[in-house]
Amino acid sequence: MITLPNRDALRSLSPLERFGLDVLVDLSRCAIVEDPAAEVVRVAIADQDPGVAHLRACIAHDWYIERGDGVVRVPRAILRRLAEIATGAAERRSTVRDRFGRVPSTENELVRQNVAAQPVVAIAAARLREAVVASAGRRPIAFLTPWPEGKRWAAAITHDLDVVDLWPVFTALRMAELARKGELQRIARTALSAFGTIGRNPVQRALRALLDAEDQRSIVSSWFVLCGTPTFHTMRAGDLTYRPEGRGARAALRALLDHRCEINLHGSFATSDDHALFAEQRRRLAGLTEQPVPGVRQHFLRMRPGETIRGMAAAGFRYDTTAGFPDRNGFRLGVGDVIPGWDGAGEKPLEIQEAPVIWMDRALSKYAGVEDPEAWISEGVTLADACRATQGLWVGVWHPNLTPALGFPDAPAAFAALLDRLLAQQPFMAPLGSLVEWRVARRGVRVRGVLPDGRPDAYGTAPRTDRLMLEDSSGARRHSIPATPR
Ligand SMILES: [Zn+2]
Repeated sequence: MITLPNRDALRSLSPLERFGLDVLVDLSRCAIVEDPAAEVVRVAIADQDPGVAHLRACIAHDWYIERGDGVVRVPRAILRRLAEIATGAAERRSTVRDRFGRVPSTENELVRQNVAAQPVVAIAAARLREAVVASAGRRPIAFLTPWPEGKRWAAAITHDLDVVDLWPVFTALRMAELARKGELQRIARTALSAFGTIGRNPVQRALRALLDAEDQRSIVSSWFVLCGTPTFHTMRAGDLTYRPEGRGARAALRALLDHRCEINLHGSFATSDDHALFAEQRRRLAGLTEQPVPGVRQHFLRMRPGETIRGMAAAGFRYDTTAGFPDRNGFRLGVGDVIPGWDGAGEKPLEIQEAPVIWMDRALSKYAGVEDPEAWISEGVTLADACRATQGLWVGVWHPNLTPALGFPDAPAAFAALLDRLLAQQPFMAPLGSLVEWRVARRGVRVRGVLPDGRPDAYGTAPRTDRLMLEDSSGARRHSIPATPR
């Protein structure tokens, strides 16, 4: 248990520094005590600036978090630094764009300093947690348990539905890509597969096979579906390629509903320039699925950092999951977890949550020329290990069109192997929307004070408090949090 800095100290923080403190404390899982006089570890702000430009130095010095007797001091400069990372500040400042209008990943500070393979913000939070334990003495300690059902980390399997109709066009495009790379064997296998499936629809078959692979493992996935009207121009650009009301898309949606999948919006290119389209596409999708549309991810991950998310929030989405790198795998915001979205113009946190993409099937293939699916999933599992080490959330993207007839022999087997390797590490798995809601509820837990027997008098402030628990520093002793409203 901890108390936060007093009101005056909090008021002296800039909005960005306050965001840094909130994210750090949330990811540390330290339970926050409201009574300022409670005999627990105090978190205080230190004003000296240790020099925070070089992230490797910050990591080597445990983020300059100081331990004391009943107090832990975090430098204000560190709070600012962590918030800059978690809000993509360097990308927000950048004016560089790639051919899809995206900020290139080389503009990201973590990429520049070569630390994007680690969730550095989450690691800083772990250092805070350790400092609290080391500074507690005889004072009581309690942390929120990371995930429900005693699970120590979480994973979400997500899919972008990019291709439904006109699949031979995609086969041809992919064969051209393989030809450029001299992948003659894969071309031959693709051609055989494609000719063998003429007259049937390999996209629908691949989608059903993928859903079956998940069903067999009791996994319910989250889907992102394009919901605009395609034109010749959007098709040529690889943007909108199908009509959501068309026969192919309706069949796909029916299959997803049958499997109780979460169906979210895959925002088309135009949404990041014209925010009103978010609400329109969201309504159109909800009309087709007849269920709420909690989340959104941009097609090609095309968005303007700190800006596009404002349009998503205004359209009523509960979460975004666009903040991954299109051309590499890793931690774009320094976390594998759920954090509030950041309004770059208003300099404030938004109601909408961000659950960054950590790994994507095609990141290695499309941009780094690696065509062996076994290598793709190995990187995915390594990043999942990094999420597990910080009790975080791994979000992976697998495209259902990675099937032999569309140019991806070996891909379906690799997907099944990926699921098995993730499951072997016992993650909590659920549709991304439920994981986000649970994390928001965990963040909302507060402790009124310490009961005479030393137990925390905890309560949840979010609507859903089921399965929230507190644990001691070893994680061995747990007790539940009553679902009493404030
Ligand atoms: Zn897409």
